[in-house]
Amino acid sequence: MSASRHSGEGGNPEEPISSSPLRCEVIQELADLYVDGELPEETIARVSKHLLGCPDCSFQIRSVEQARGHLRDTCGKHESNPGFRERLSARLHAEFADHVTPETVDLPGQLALPDFRS
Ligand SMILES: [Zn+2]
Repeated sequence: MSASRHSGEGGNPEEPISSSPLRCEVIQELADLYVDGELPEETIARVSKHLLGCPDCSFQIRSVEQARGHLRDTCGKHESNPGFRERLSARLHAEFADHVTPETVDLPGQLALPDFRS
C-alpha cells in the first residue's frame, strides 16, 4: 500500500529467478501465513512474484483469502442461521397468499350474475 520504505535496493532490481526457487508446493504451504501477513517481507515479495506468473497458486491464495474473510464475517455477526431464511421466505409467501386470496374470492361473485338471460 505505502511505499514509504524503499531501502536496501542495491544494483539490479531484476534478480535471477534461480535465487528464489519457490515451487508451487511451497507457495501453497505458505498460503495461510501469506494471507495472515505473518511472512517476512522478503518472502512475501517472492510469493507475490510467483503469483504473478502462476494462476494456480494465485487462485489458491485468493481462495484462502476468501475463506478468511468468510470466517471473520461469520464470527463478527450471528447471521449464520440456516433456518432463518426459509422461515422468512415462508412468511413472505404467506403474506402474498393473503393478498391474492380476495381477488380469487371475488371472481365467483361476478360469475353468479346471469345478466344475459333476460
Ligand atoms: Zn505456483
